[in-house]
Amino acid sequence: MDYFCKACSYHGKASAAGGECPACGSFDLVVPRPAGEQAEESAPARWRMVVLVGLWGYFLLLILWKLLS
Ligand SMILES: [Zn+2]
Repeated sequence: MDYFCKACSYHGKASAAGGECPACGSFDLVVPRPAGEQAEESAPARWRMVVLVGLWGYFLLLILWKLLS
């Protein structure tokens, strides 16, 4: 596991025995994740879903209008 200390920016493969930073003793350690994983985690914005549904509805309405006229 990779560790990154937010207090002193230590970056190493392992934390100390107690789980603290081996360089400065801070417990403010994070496990950095790949960028792709973070993007997957964030849910799509609500306005995007509204626009998506709205445009699909408009699209289907246009098709129906075209078919019925
Ligand atoms: Zn540190």
